[in-house]
Amino acid sequence: MFVPTAIQQPTPQELQLTWSDDQTFTLTLQQLRDACPCANCKGETILGVYYPPVKLPMFTPGMYEIEAIEPVGNYAIQVRWRDGHHTGIYSWEQLRGLCEAPEAE
Ligand SMILES: [Zn+2]
Repeated sequence: MFVPTAIQQPTPQELQLTWSDDQTFTLTLQQLRDACPCANCKGETILGVYYPPVKLPMFTPGMYEIEAIEPVGNYAIQVRWRDGHHTGIYSWEQLRGLCEAPEAE
């Protein structure tokens, strides 16, 4: 599995990740936020039953701006967004998947 060796913000709208295989990818913060894996954004499955997100995805000011990025153990980062949202934990596996996914639109 690949591990990021550097995470930088080259512009206010982008996050650049360098990986242990020396590949570098740039994600837009919108891609990152829209992929937020937390239960509020993506819903969750409990005992085989899928519960959709509790609220509609609506634009809020600051939702595509990063206030802070905090490491979670050695397997993930937690992103604190300027609109106050901070429950999304992005594992290396998910981040790498986002990096390799074709552009969303
Ligand atoms: Zn979320």
